[in-house]
Amino acid sequence: MIGTSTGLNISGLGKTFSLGRKSVEALTDVTLETPEGSFLSLLGPSGCGKSTVLRILAGLDTPTTGTALVNGQSPAELRTRHELGIAFQDSALLPWRSVVSNITLPLQVAGLPSDPELIADLVKLVGLEGFEKAKPAQLSGGMRQRVSIARSLVVKPSVLLLDEPFGALDDMTRQRLNLELLRIWTEKPATTLMVTHGIAEAVFLSDVVAVMTPRPGRVLEVVSIDLPRPRTPEMMRTPEFHKLHDYLSGLLFGRAGVA
Ligand code: ADP
Ligand code: MG
Repeated sequence: MIGTSTGLNISGLGKTFSLGRKSVEALTDVTLETPEGSFLSLLGPSGCGKSTVLRILAGLDTPTTGTALVNGQSPAELRTRHELGIAFQDSALLPWRSVVSNITLPLQVAGLPSDPELIADLVKLVGLEGFEKAKPAQLSGGMRQRVSIARSLVVKPSVLLLDEPFGALDDMTRQRLNLELLRIWTEKPATTLMVTHGIAEAVFLSDVVAVMTPRPGRVLEVVSIDLPRPRTPEMMRTPEFHKLHDYLSGLLFGRAGVA
């Protein structure tokens, strides 16, 4: 359940990239706050700075202005305490390693012992039993993304950062993986930020959806998703769901004038 302390705490975040003599203002004054253990999705047009927000939270990039904390910790603290799970659109698996040794990679990198029981649980959770020794090339795209999700969970993160984790997959696989992600997240709700292009999956999974403007990205509106939990696929056919979906489409494509 969602706690009373602060989860995401992003304040006045700005980022300007320099490209030679030119500079690109990617983000301007992005401010977002969620409770600990809540699921926030970030929607916005391509190039509006969504990945930049996520990379700053992951400590992979530094902001030009403003501050970013998650669960009261800086990105650097989250990394050193191994509280962070990250998954990207491209599964980014190491091709020469098996499913299991890809999943355990973050533990090795962190110098933490591998717990065979936890690994077996994760393999089961993402439905890859029987494929433990398979190499990425022997798996489908959906299976590779599931390995990547399992890998993001192996440190038992209290913070989960997902950058279009299922963006490259077909709709059917994507829907199935969203259900799996929901189940996994429900078992241990991490403070989550997911970047996505999918309005339906944002509504289905999230407690709040933040819509960003075109570059330089700022937060256009924060919409709370007051659908009850546990969420079920049937909810996607309710008037409440459609109302939220339409409202977010309006923000993204209509009133903001974004194609
Ligand atoms: P999104 O994920 O919303 O598509 P990004 O965060 O990837 O957007 O990028 C936002 C803007 O910042 C884009 O205009 C992009 O070209 C620019 N940008 C991102 N990373 C860099 C970088 N390392 N150097 C220069 N420009 C960058
Ligand atoms: Mg991106």
